[in-house]
Amino acid sequence: MLAEKFTQASAKLHPDYGRKPLAQFYMAASLYLLWSGLIWLSIATGQLSIAPEVGVLMLAGVAATNALFFGIARAAPADQPPAPAVTALQCLFGLFWAALFTYFVPASGATTLAMFITCMLYTLFQVSSTSFRRLALISAAAYSAAIVLRYLTVAQAGPFWSEGVQLITYLGVMGWLTLFAGHIHSLREELHDRNEQLRENIRKVARVAERDHLTKSFNRHYIMDTLAREKGRADRSNYPVSIAIFDLDHFKRLNDEHGHLVGDRVLKVFAKRVRAELRGMDAINPSDNRRSFGRFGGEEFIAILPGTNLSGAESCAERLRENVAGQPIDDAYQITVSVGVAEYRRGETVPEMLARADEALYLAKSRGRNRVEVSDPKPATDAEVIDFRSAGS
Ligand code: GH3
Ligand code: MG
Ligand code: MG
Repeated sequence: MLAEKFTQASAKLHPDYGRKPLAQFYMAASLYLLWSGLIWLSIATGQLSIAPEVGVLMLAGVAATNALFFGIARAAPADQPPAPAVTALQCLFGLFWAALFTYFVPASGATTLAMFITCMLYTLFQVSSTSFRRLALISAAAYSAAIVLRYLTVAQAGPFWSEGVQLITYLGVMGWLTLFAGHIHSLREELHDRNEQLRENIRKVARVAERDHLTKSFNRHYIMDTLAREKGRADRSNYPVSIAIFDLDHFKRLNDEHGHLVGDRVLKVFAKRVRAELRGMDAINPSDNRRSFGRFGGEEFIAILPGTNLSGAESCAERLRENVAGQPIDDAYQITVSVGVAEYRRGETVPEMLARADEALYLAKSRGRNRVEVSDPKPATDAEVIDFRSAGS
């Protein structure tokens, strides 16, 4: 539970966090909007002129392209980063429209340059460096082809050196961007590795925070959280949940006779044995694997048994008691354990349930130890209490 929270928090450290397909689509669409705005400004100020049929063709094509990628973004899983292949395809479409514009619209140099460069910048952070290199080559080829083709249709040719310098500028910028992309990608990989390492460390810390240092069972804090959660679940459904409190018998004596280190070792082995036994106990509770076993403090432990009613919990506790009594720890230290079992009563608080299990444990101790006692599953309700005074009158 604590580990889950940490994992969710650390997911935010991942460089891909927040890159959602729709958000990316809007970025691409806004780029088309920017291009359209720049072109409109150039036409409005008399810098450019576009044949009406070319304008209509390009507007319709760009609208269709955006509709296509909107559909792709909507169909993609919303909580995952967009596929790099989609980004590359978006880039290819963008380059196609930029090349078409370059071919059809003479003297469009500055706009053309801006279109090609922004299209490649859009792709820079979202595809691998190899893909970026390929796209950069394709873009350079598309830009060059558009200009050369325009020169072949002489009527549409612009000033030679102006076009030439712009082409060289573009090729230079693309060459540098390709180098830069390699640099950015190695930084990203390093960041990714560090985040992975950080996430792993957080997982370890979370694990340590949930465990008891000596026995490696869950600690009291974790157990109380789990109890509150299981109570909530039981309140929402008719799902039973039981607990069993274990207390080692005459543990002080064992400490006194053999020393604290032996006491520690016994606690460790006891907890390990009970955990293993609980894991293998599917016959008692086949539907649930959320059982947890924790150290409540000192030589007291608790097992939470979701989906298990009182009789199931009692036989589970009995099996564990037998197991502990049946074989001395390290073939040297014979210990026994007393157990108090209680099933959750709808509406009671966690401390009330714990107190009932504790009472049952106290009973087990007073009845001679090395035994299991259960707390009455249901208290007598007012209706069940017969009032003899009123019955007789
Ligand atoms: P009972 O059968 O009534 O439970 O008797 P008991 O001796 O087990 O109970 P008591 O509460 O009198 O003593 C518990 C002992 O557990 C005292 C304490 O020294 C020992 N203990 C608690 N925590 C640890 C621990 O972490 N390591 C060791 N070695 N001993 C511990
Ligand atoms: Mg005790
Ligand atoms: Mg004890």
